Amino acid sequence: TSGERVPALVIGTGYGGAVAALRLAEAGVAVHMVEMGMAWDTPGPDGKIFCSTLAPDQRSYWLRTRTKAPLNYFLGFPIDRDIPRYTGILDAEEFSGITVYQGRGVGGGSLVNGGMAVTPKRENFATVLPSVNADEMYATYYPRANAGLGVGLIDPAWFDTTACYQYSRVGRKHAQRSGFPFVFVPDVYDWDYMKREAAGTATKSALAGEILYGNNHGKKSLQQTYLARARATGRVTISALHKVTSVTPASGGGYTVVIDQLNTSGATTATKTVTADRVFFAAGSVGTSKLLVKLKATGALPNLNNEIGKGWGDNGNVMCGRANHLWDPTGKLQSTIPCSGIDNWSAGGAFAEVAPLPTGIETFASFYLSITKNPNRAAFTWNSATSSVDLNWQTAWKQPSIDMAKTIFDKINAKEGTIYRTDLFGIYKIWGDHLTYHPLGGAVLNKATDNYGRLTAYPGLYVIDGALIPGNTSVNPFVTITALAERNIDTIIATDL
Ligand code: FAD
Repeated sequence: TSGERVPALVIGTGYGGAVAALRLAEAGVAVHMVEMGMAWDTPGPDGKIFCSTLAPDQRSYWLRTRTKAPLNYFLGFPIDRDIPRYTGILDAEEFSGITVYQGRGVGGGSLVNGGMAVTPKRENFATVLPSVNADEMYATYYPRANAGLGVGLIDPAWFDTTACYQYSRVGRKHAQRSGFPFVFVPDVYDWDYMKREAAGTATKSALAGEILYGNNHGKKSLQQTYLARARATGRVTISALHKVTSVTPASGGGYTVVIDQLNTSGATTATKTVTADRVFFAAGSVGTSKLLVKLKATGALPNLNNEIGKGWGDNGNVMCGRANHLWDPTGKLQSTIPCSGIDNWSAGGAFAEVAPLPTGIETFASFYLSITKNPNRAAFTWNSATSSVDLNWQTAWKQPSIDMAKTIFDKINAKEGTIYRTDLFGIYKIWGDHLTYHPLGGAVLNKATDNYGRLTAYPGLYVIDGALIPGNTSVNPFVTITALAERNIDTIIATDL
């Protein structure tokens, strides 16, 4: 309620925010979380909370009148369709050179993502977070994050026989025939539940095309893990459909936080003001960067340093498909949860996940999301003419990612006598180079903040999400975001409270 005073306010309910809320609450601090997206705890008229990728409705996209599927063409035909404008779950946020996909709702990205829960190889950690003690991370914080998130691995014997991973087995065969290391990728999806889906004894989710717009079953999102534990302390409250627009020092100490309450059309129905002793920015790389850049430029937090907005990267995301021979069908039943990858990071700068194309028909396509060592970094800046935040990423900056992904797929194509698919991202377009699922940076650790996420010009303000990570994690990012948040909140609780 407006006028209230809270000890700790957390902006956003994704990984960083959920870790902060749980650990602060366990330390005895009352926490209020503010989330611009919906609660996603109530079924719609069809009895389901989330809609499927095969039949997207208003629940699919954040304030759009047409879907914007990451893979927007098939066999040359556009697959997007009109939907009512609604505060749906997936935001396809468009900047000039890139579309950044993000989750909106209580649970943040954990609601929409594939659940791939990957700890970077230790030898790569120094380039991921150069100022962080790797021994501590690998002894304490990565294990803590993996346990808290409920990470598990597919049963390799089941993998070898189940129809729904035929596409991954084709991916393994082709990787191994070209001499690339093939690895299983851990996930927070409940693997036993998926076995029951395949056996026909549980309601299907991963095997019913659910992903991107939420999973009604099987996936352990933050709602089932960190946020459930945070709420169980009795010290954490969450306001959904509330968007923070300003944070500024309060005259009597602490910070004045201005919050817009939204309706499901995205309109502001009320504006509230609360005072918080501490504020944790956990709005995600883009959300936190946009807020901080605006607050610095407009005079609400003028003393933020000049690193604010800088060091943003796309985790080198690039997608492509390959057309297989008729003797290599990838299966008409495909689990939406990827479970494997091709690791050519050290030799070629690319880690390619074998991704599903869950269309319900045989496509003879192999589809991949590559994470690459793209060196380009962009910056967010305040645009006073439009009163909004710009990002100066250019589409051409994906070329290094394409080159790195080609170190894998040119070789596989040569070995197999196959070609790239040209019908998945447009007409005659091979590379999905227009998007990222993995925004990282914008308030980089030990640059925009101190080495624990403190915005030191303003005691009591912290960054605790993917904005801290300087653009690349070498693998999917959320385990690293979670582990870094665990590390930082440990120190913050021990020394600042
Ligand atoms: P987020 O999880 O983005 O949470 C930020 C929250 O803050 C959001 O809920 C947002 O609505 C809210 N917010 C933003 N601004 C405001 C504001 N002003 N006021 C109030 N609330 C606000 N990563 C993996 O590791 N493995 C995967 O398999 C994987 N697959 C992905 C698939 C898709 C389709 C997408 C989009 C992402 C995927 N990711 C994956 C990435 C992963 O989900 C993100 O890296 C992660 O969610 C980022 O965590 P975060 O805590 O930084 O922020």
